Formats: sequence, structure tokens, C-alpha cells
Amino acid sequence: MSLDSAIEWTDATWNPVRGCTKISPGCKHCYAETFAERFRDVKGHPYEQGFDLRLVPEKLGEPLRWRSPKMIFVNSMSDLFHDKVSDSYIIAVAQVMAAAKWHTFQVLTKRAGRLSRLLGSTLRFAANQPHIWWGVSVEDRKYGLPRVDDLRLSKAKVRFLSVEPLLEDLGPIRLDGIHWVIVGGESGPGARPMKAEWVISVKDQCIRSGVPFFFKQWGGVRKSITGRKLQGRTFDEFPERVRNPVMPAQTCLTLASTIESSFS
Ligand code: SF4
Repeated sequence: MSLDSAIEWTDATWNPVRGCTKISPGCKHCYAETFAERFRDVKGHPYEQGFDLRLVPEKLGEPLRWRSPKMIFVNSMSDLFHDKVSDSYIIAVAQVMAAAKWHTFQVLTKRAGRLSRLLGSTLRFAANQPHIWWGVSVEDRKYGLPRVDDLRLSKAKVRFLSVEPLLEDLGPIRLDGIHWVIVGGESGPGARPMKAEWVISVKDQCIRSGVPFFFKQWGGVRKSITGRKLQGRTFDEFPERVRNPVMPAQTCLTLASTIESSFS
């Protein structure tokens, strides 16, 4: 967990699951893996088990304890819809999100098929909540664009695309039913290059379709140098956020401990 995230499009991260396995080319330089593996076998560290997937039930209620409204990136260090995470655990995560309505949750996955199936069944109660945004990663045409179709056809009320790391020209993207698009290049050692015309193509399609567009970064080995300006300006658009009252503290604490204890 981090209350102050360095990620440009969120305020905080919440990780009730840690660790993951690679599924497509966008995972090649997974920052979560690099970070987690640094602490493998460090006794007492949250990432003592490196990037091995595990549930962290004691973190389930965390957003219910955060009293001020935040945009929360769910599972920045994992993928909630990984096949090693049970349906019942995903439902518990969704119950917390559905209850903590004063926040805005951003759920991002590469397992779009499972996301879509669950939003149409056991997660229906959370799918139509405007403060929960459901997104898929889109790094290329082969793996990324089919995820857009899964998401578009899902029951999610708010749908977004994280086009990062953008690895090639995506060509035409079906943006009907999509409410937000983030684009970014890969950063860090070995970062794969991103061409300006690929980004401009996505941005122009968003403008034509009236979809809010957020340009996160050019990336590269030193992303602080390449920055985040596109055609001379920044693009920092978001979908509209709903504002809901904060639940009484005691109700939050009771709910948090009930949900956490059911997995301890
Ligand atoms: S799905 Fe995400 S968290 Fe999992 S390995 Fe790929 S990039 Fe990393």
C-alpha cells in the first residue's frame, strides 16, 4: 500500500494481492516484479516472497480506514483477476470497493476474459457503481485489442484502457463504450521505444470519439528527461468522478474487520 503514489493518474495504491505471473509482451519489464524480487528472502519485508502470488487478507479493509477521498489504483503490484485468486477473494475486494463509495477505484487487468465473466455474474453488484472504474491493459494489437472487446462487452459502468507500454501502432481502436484512455511508454533499463505517431493516433481517435485522454509519459531509460508533453502540451483528462459521503468511522472499522477475518 502507498498513500502517495508516484503514478501520475492515481493518488494511492492498494494491494490486497501481491505477486503475479507474466501473460503477454507488456509484462516483459514488469516494474512490480523488479521491485518485489529485490526483497526476496528479506525477513519481515512485505515482499519477502518476491513476486510469488499471495493473498494479503489483512489489507482487505484498508480503503475503509482511509477517511479522505482518493483515487485508488487496485493491485498495482499484481493482477486481481489472476487465476490463482479465488472468486470469493475477488468478491471480498469488490465488497470493500462497493462500500467505500467516497473513493474512486481503478481496477486494471490483463485477464480481461475473467473480468468480463465475473462482472456479468458474481460482481454485478460492483459493475454498475460509478465510483469503480474497470480497465484493461493494451500494449499491442494481438493481445491488447481483444481485451478492449472483452471490456466493451462487459457490464462495467465505467471502462478504461491503459495503453502502456505502447509497443506498436494499434491502428483503429473501437472506443464506443470506453470512458477513459491512458497512454504511456515503457521506462527503465531496456525500455522499448514508443513512436510519436503511435501516440498521436490514439490521442486523435480519443478526441474524435469524445473520450478523455491522459498522456502519462514518453518513458525511456530516464523518464524524467523525456517528460510527458505531447505536441507541446500535457493531456491530463479523467472521467467524471462521483462524490459520495464518507461512512461513519465505526461502521467502516466493523466492516473492515469482518471482511478481513473471513480470510484469516
Ligand atoms: S499482469 Fe501486470 S503485474 Fe502481472 S506480470 Fe504482467 S505487468 Fe506484471
